[in-house]
Amino acid sequence: MPGRSWRIGHLAGIPIGISPLWLLIVALITWSLGASYYPDQIEGIAPAPAYLLGLVSALLLFASILLHELGHAVVARRRGVRVEGIDLWLLGGVSKLKDSPHRPDDELRYAAAGPAVTVVVAALFGVASLALPSSAPAAVRALVDYQFAVNSLILGFNLIPAFPLDGGRILRAIVWRLVGDVARATRIAAAVGRGFAFAFIALGLLATVAGAVGGLWLALIGFFLVLAGRAEESQQEIEAAFAGHEAGELMAFPAVTIPAGTTVEEAARSHFARYRYRSFPVVEDDRAVGLVTIDRIEAMSPPERREATVGEIAERDPDLFVDEHDDVAALLGRSAFRRVGRAIVLGDRDGVGILSATEVTRALRALRLGSAGAEGTDAGGGSRPSGAGASG
Ligand SMILES: [Zn+2]
Repeated sequence: MPGRSWRIGHLAGIPIGISPLWLLIVALITWSLGASYYPDQIEGIAPAPAYLLGLVSALLLFASILLHELGHAVVARRRGVRVEGIDLWLLGGVSKLKDSPHRPDDELRYAAAGPAVTVVVAALFGVASLALPSSAPAAVRALVDYQFAVNSLILGFNLIPAFPLDGGRILRAIVWRLVGDVARATRIAAAVGRGFAFAFIALGLLATVAGAVGGLWLALIGFFLVLAGRAEESQQEIEAAFAGHEAGELMAFPAVTIPAGTTVEEAARSHFARYRYRSFPVVEDDRAVGLVTIDRIEAMSPPERREATVGEIAERDPDLFVDEHDDVAALLGRSAFRRVGRAIVLGDRDGVGILSATEVTRALRALRLGSAGAEGTDAGGGSRPSGAGASG
C-alpha cells in the first residue's frame, strides 16, 4: 500500500499528502492524453496545447479523487472516527483512519460518502457536456467529456463489491446490519470479493492470451483484490479474538522506565543493552510522556546520542497511550500502535504497564488454542519487571 508521502497542505482541517509516485502518474496521464486523446478529438491541434490540456485534465482528475476522499474523511469524522489524513497515490486516494468504524451504519455512511461525491462530480460534467452550445470550442468539449468518462469509470470501479474498494465496505456494512456480527459479515463480503477477484484474473489472463495487453492490468487488479480481501479478513479475525479483553490483561507490569533527562547514550547503555527490550516508556515528573524506541536511537550518530536526551526523542503520539480497562481490539485498529508495535498502559496503580505487539501475538496464539488466561499470555498484574518484551 502507499508508502512515504509528502504533505502538501490541509483541507477542512484534514492533512493531504501525495506519494512521490503520484507525480509519475500525473506525467503518464498528461503524456497519454496529449499524445493521443486530444489529437484524436481536436482536428489539427498542435502538440503544446494538446499536452497542456492533458496536464489540466490530469490535475482535474486528481481534484475529483481528492473530493471523493474528502467525502469519506468528512463523514468519518462526523461519525466520531478520527482521520489521520488523505494520501493521493498510485491508483487514486486513500483516507487513513485512526480507528475502525464501530457500527454498521457508520461504516455504510463512511463507505458510501466517497462514491456519492463522485456521482455528483460525474453528473456535473455530464450536464455541462449536454449544456455546451454547438459553437463551444472543441477543446472545452473534449476536456469536459473526458472528466465525465473518467469519473464514471472511477465510480464503477469503486462500487465493485470487493475489499478494499468502497463497494466491498458497503457490502460488509449491509451484511453486518443483517446478521448483526461484523466478523461473519467480513467473511461473507470477503468471499463475494474473492469471486470478483478470481473472475478478473481469469478474464484478464484470457484477454492476454487472446492478444489484448490490457488484460494483464485486469489480472493484476484481481490479484491485488485477492490479497486485500485476505488482509481485511485476518485483521477482522484478530480484532474479534480480542474483543472484550482489556489492555490490563495482556500488559507487562510494572514496566522499566527511563527518566526524560537521561541522555540517549546513557539510556543505550543502562537500559537497551542491559534489558534488551526494543522500547521503554519515558517518564517526566512521575508521569509517562512517551516511548523511546531502539529504531530511533539506531538512526542517530554517536555525537547526537551524547547531546540528546530520551525526553527529546521520545514518540509522544497520544494514540500510544491506553487505559488498562480499554479494549485491546480497539487498540489494534490504531495506526500508531501498528507503526510502533508498543503501547503504554496507564492505570490506577503507581507505575505504567507496556503492551507489545509480540505479547498480543503470543496471546492470540494462546486464545486460539483455547487456553485463554492460562499459561503463555503472561497476563497483567504479574511480578515480572519488563520493558516491551524481549523479542519481536
Ligand atoms: Zn472511496
